[in-house]
Amino acid sequence: MPDQRLTQITNFWSDVFEKDGRQFSRVVIESTYPLSYQLSSTTASVMMSIRRARANINYSKTEVYDGLINELAVRQNEAENITVEIAIDYEAPFTINFSEGIPARTVIVFDRMHLYKVFSSLKIVIDPGHGGDDKGGSGPVDLLEKNVALILAEQTKIYLDKYGAQTFLTRKIDQNLPLRNRFNLAFKNKADLFISLHTSYDKNPEVKGLSVGYNPAAAGSEKLAGLIAAEVARKIKRDIREIKRDSQLTALKNIPGIIVEPVTISNYVEEGLLRNPHLYEKVALGIFNGVKEHFYG
Ligand SMILES: [Zn+2]
Repeated sequence: MPDQRLTQITNFWSDVFEKDGRQFSRVVIESTYPLSYQLSSTTASVMMSIRRARANINYSKTEVYDGLINELAVRQNEAENITVEIAIDYEAPFTINFSEGIPARTVIVFDRMHLYKVFSSLKIVIDPGHGGDDKGGSGPVDLLEKNVALILAEQTKIYLDKYGAQTFLTRKIDQNLPLRNRFNLAFKNKADLFISLHTSYDKNPEVKGLSVGYNPAAAGSEKLAGLIAAEVARKIKRDIREIKRDSQLTALKNIPGIIVEPVTISNYVEEGLLRNPHLYEKVALGIFNGVKEHFYG
C-alpha cells in the first residue's frame, strides 16, 4: 500500500524555463515517495493538500515574484498533512507532471502565455543613461554610472524581448548621446514607453535607496513610476527614496517616460550591490513586473 508510506518533502523550489521558444513557470516539490494530494485552485492561488507527509520545517514562505508566481508557502499541519500554497498573480493554465526516482518530483507547470499578450503589442525604448565623456555618477570605489546603466538596460531588454515586446536601445556601446537623440528614437518608433536606466548620486555618502522619476506631461507616467518603484524595491530589497516629476522627460510630450535609479552609486554598500550580476536581473524583473501591472493591472 504505497498510500500508507510517510513521505518526506526534501526540497521545494521554483523557476522559469523555456521550451520551444516559450516561457513557463514551474514549481518543483521533491519527496522521498510519490505524493498523495488533493488539489484546489482559485484566481489567486493553487493549493495542494498532501497526505501522509512530513516536511523538515513547520512553515516556510519563499518570495518568487516572477511575473506569475508570487510566493510559495509550505505548512506542516497536524496529522501528517502538508499544505503547499502557490500564490499567483493571475489565473493561468497549469499541468502537473510526476517523475519517479530519488527524489520523486512533482512538478506544477504554469503557462506564461498571458504575458505574451501583454508585451507583444508594446514598443519600448530602453535608454542606458550617460555614455562616453559623460560618465554620470561614480562610486566610492571604482564603478561608473554609464557602465552599470548599460548593463541594467541590456538586462531589461532581455526580459521584455522574451515576451515579444519590440524594444529599442538608445545606445549599445560607450558613446556620448544627446538627450534629444534618445527622445527622437521614441518619437520615430511611436514608442508606448520610454524607460531610462541610471543610478542615483549624492555628495552625502549616507544617502541610499531607489529613485524613480516620471514624465509629468504624459498620462499614466506617475502610476507607472509608482508600480515600477514598488516592484523593483521588492525584488532588490532596497527602500524607495523618492518618486518624482522629472522636468527633462516632459520633452517626450505624451509618451509615458520614466527614469529608474535602482540604487545610489555614491553609497558604499549600494555600489557593492552593483558588483553582483543578480542585482541586474532583479531590477530588470522588477521593471518587467511594473510594466505588466501597468498595462494589465
Ligand atoms: Zn544619471
